[in-house]
Order: sequence, then structure tokens, then C-alpha cells
Amino acid sequence: MRLVTFDCGQGARLGAFTASGIRDLGPRSMMDAIADLAAIRAACEGAPLVTACKLLAPLPRTPKNIFCVGKNYHEHAKEFAGSGFDGGAKDVVPPFPVVFSKPHTSIIGHGEPILSALDPTGGLDYEGELAVVIGTGGRGIAKADALRHVFGYTIVNDVTARHLQKRHSQWVLGKGLDSFCPMGPAILTADEVPDPGALTLSTWVNGQRRQHAPVSDLIFDIPTLIEAISAGITLEPGDVIATGTPAGVGIGASPPVFLKPGDIIRIEVPGIGVLENPVA
Ligand code: MG
Repeated sequence: MRLVTFDCGQGARLGAFTASGIRDLGPRSMMDAIADLAAIRAACEGAPLVTACKLLAPLPRTPKNIFCVGKNYHEHAKEFAGSGFDGGAKDVVPPFPVVFSKPHTSIIGHGEPILSALDPTGGLDYEGELAVVIGTGGRGIAKADALRHVFGYTIVNDVTARHLQKRHSQWVLGKGLDSFCPMGPAILTADEVPDPGALTLSTWVNGQRRQHAPVSDLIFDIPTLIEAISAGITLEPGDVIATGTPAGVGIGASPPVFLKPGDIIRIEVPGIGVLENPVA
């Protein structure tokens, strides 16, 4: 199923994208779908279709910060090292996953503006990423069991203020600003994704393609990330892990190209959909 959170003026509701359009599953939340997907499937039969509703982030508020993974595609790790924006790093390719987080107050939905004014340093950049949504929580999840803990997959734009990322060394202040985590448009449930490595991710800025890579190019694959994060932190249903961005970000260009008000960032993972946000 392809599940969405939407608002037609009555507050957040759960919906399912079908061939006929979005079916209204009522005043439920995505957490209800994570808790009992079979009940949601049953409710979808004959549910009314809705039109002209605003999509919200599929998980407008995650249980804890969104986990993110830095430098997780080989070509991106190279372009980031070459940019000089990573002064503290010793290795181009990290020996272990680089994990940081963004507060849930950074989450916005498809179509909502990225607030460039919150970065006073003029270094706004995009990072298109596949994100994993945890269904069954746990601590100490083994790699071999990891995909059984996944509820589904969505898209995240790991928006970054590059100068803030650099000057504060730790990445949360450069990446955790309000509106810096566009998410959506939908969550594709894991039963429809037998191999997440077979998904591809592409990003366009103002119609020009900047990123295009198969998820199989990840340095640390999704089971490895789940094993590493859950080794000492309990993952909970609804937790989100953004898996890292491929090559082609603005900081990788020479000279760097940063975003400006009016730019449109469009990220597509076929099967999940298109996440598009303007820069305000
Ligand atoms: Mg990222």
C-alpha cells in the first residue's frame, strides 16, 4: 500500500493512494497503520475518494529525532571530501556509519516551503534520500532480521545549511532547522519492496537533474544501518532513518551552487512518488 497523511480542512487523516485516487481512511494516524496494517487494508475497501486535499508529511511527528546517515554513497563521500566542507574527517569513506539526527520540528510535507531565511549564511543545499520507517521496534536487531522491522519506505530531503554544518562541526545545527526535513509524499509499505536496493533515487533542481543513483550503491546498506543504530538505542515504531544522499549535491559542484528563494527541489523514487518543495 501507498499510505499518506492528508488534511482537507478537518485535521490530519490517513489515506491510501489507489489507482482511482486517495481513499479516505478517516481520522487515523500513520501510527495506527504501523500498529495494525491488516485493519487499514480492510478499511480501504470501499473507503470514499477525496480530491484537492493537502498532503502532510506521512509522519508529521516521529517518536524521536529522525536518524540520518552521512556520507553513505561512495561518489558523494568523494565529492564531500573534495569540497573542503568536512574539515574534521580523516577518511573519505567512513569505516563505520556516520549517524546524526534532525529534530522532528524540522519535518514538513510535500509542497511546503523550505525557509531559507533561517540560514543567514547563504549556504542552503539539498540532499535527496531514501528513508526507512520502522514498524516493529527493538534493540540489538541483527542484520539478518532487520528488514522484518521495516514498515515501509519514504523520501526525505536532508536540507542542509552548509556553512552552519561546517562551523559548528557537529551537524545538528546545520541540518536541524525548521522546515529542513521535507518528507513524503507517501510511505510505500515494505511488502511491496522485496529489495530496497533495487529502488532508484533522482533529484532535480528547477527541472535540471542533479542526482540519480540506485539505492544498491549505499556504502552501508539498510540492514547494516538498523543493526548499527539499534545496537544500543531502542528503535520504536514510527522511527525514521534517512539513509544518506548520492553524489550531485550543490556543495559538490565547483564552485558550489547553493539554493535560493524560488528554486524548486523535486525528488523521485519510483513506487514511492515525488517529493517537491519550493525554497521560500
Ligand atoms: Mg544527508
